[in-house]
Amino acid sequence: MCPGPLPESADVVILGAGAAGLWAAGTAAARGKKVLLLEKNPRVGVKILASGGTHCNVTTTLEGRALQEAYGRDGGRFLAPSLRRLGPHDVRHELETLGVPTEEGEWEKVWPKSRKASDVAHALLRRALDAGATVRTDAAVLDLRPGFLVRTARGDVHSQKVLVTVGGKSYPKSGTTGDGYAWLEELGHTIVRPVPALVPLVVELPWVRALAGITVPGARVWVKKRADRRRPLLFTHTGLSGPGAMDVSRWFELGPAELHVDFLPDMSEEELRTAIAQAKRIAKALPLPARLAEGLCEGVGVRGDQPGTETRKALRHALLMAVKRWTPPVSGTRGFDHAEVTAGGVALPEVDPSTMESRIVKGLFVAGEILDVDGPIGGFNFQSAFSTGHAAGLAV
Ligand SMILES: Cc1cc2nc3c(=O)[nH]c(=O)nc-3n(C[C@H](O)[C@H](O)[C@H](O)COP(=O)(O)OP(=O)(O)OC[C@H]3O[C@@H](n4cnc5c(N)ncnc54)[C@H](O)[C@@H]3O)c2cc1C
Repeated sequence: MCPGPLPESADVVILGAGAAGLWAAGTAAARGKKVLLLEKNPRVGVKILASGGTHCNVTTTLEGRALQEAYGRDGGRFLAPSLRRLGPHDVRHELETLGVPTEEGEWEKVWPKSRKASDVAHALLRRALDAGATVRTDAAVLDLRPGFLVRTARGDVHSQKVLVTVGGKSYPKSGTTGDGYAWLEELGHTIVRPVPALVPLVVELPWVRALAGITVPGARVWVKKRADRRRPLLFTHTGLSGPGAMDVSRWFELGPAELHVDFLPDMSEEELRTAIAQAKRIAKALPLPARLAEGLCEGVGVRGDQPGTETRKALRHALLMAVKRWTPPVSGTRGFDHAEVTAGGVALPEVDPSTMESRIVKGLFVAGEILDVDGPIGGFNFQSAFSTGHAAGLAV
């Protein structure tokens, strides 16, 4: 809670106290700028608090080119200058300095050692406050007018510089309802259509839904010519989730797409063909969770307890395909309510990638998820919010 009256003016007003806004506020205030950070919620960093199952996967171990590539060609190119200035190593160093040491986990993920997201949120708030930033919660921004006039639920504020870090439209319950798109469009920016990303996929098949709770740790999940990941795949009561499904989910929002899954990417088709043909109980030939093996057999019309030798070749082949090249009918995604990020947003060519200043409106800065840049699961989205927030904090 950060109560108190709003100051009438500031060198820079930052709209939205999430990952990008908090980081930017600390950086700008440390340069001696009079910073006002406004947040709609009663507390700051709500998404940080909810992240990584409240453990907060704060960044990644990847650096350099591999890091850049995680954001796609355009996103990686745009982020290059800000990642160079504040990369994952720098984020970890800064958190350590703030009393939040980090450690590496699987899939190149970095977590606070305490595994408490609240430690990260509190550290970033403390960093901003200690540097002298004024933070106000319960201060929803209602409008942003040229000049700049910031209209809020608690009164108006004037400033020569404004940094917009209100995030995207995913998880609207957390406060991110896409408010910034209309303000920025009104000021002359192009908004690339925001779509849900990192979101579970809907599969209507009853036998798939009946497998809810099962995880396949190293499944290969791909959408041809678009995305190819090896990450855990989770069955849920509405279809498929886990990083495997979520990392490729955007493509089901952007046009027709077909999902492919290889449940056993370390086993060749030949090996599996032989194992199925020789199995005493055909489901046992599949080194997968028992309920999934049975489900896949059922899906192709084979009894799991049937011997391979007594199963027609065509059915054995269908089972092989179900394991190595499963193509479940995906009817859509679970939408913004369940999406961890928003793809799309402020068009990148309209923003200077070194300073995050608008190329259209002088004194206007944009950082974080509201930009048309996002990464896969694995700490990449916090990293881009911190890096772009930091770049803006150095430039405002
Ligand atoms: C459940 C969940 C788990 C996640 N886990 C991870 C993870 O482990 N690792 C990772 O890298 N990423 C994770 N993400 C993604 C990550 O949280 C976001 O990409 C990141 O927070 C974006 O930072 P941001 O500062 O741009 O926006 P946000 O953190 O969303 O912050 C925007 C802030 O602006 C405020 N705001 C909005 N509108 C207004 C307004 N009109 N006036 C004032 N304030 C306003 C919001 O309340 C919010 O506090 C997760 C997301 C979700 C939903």
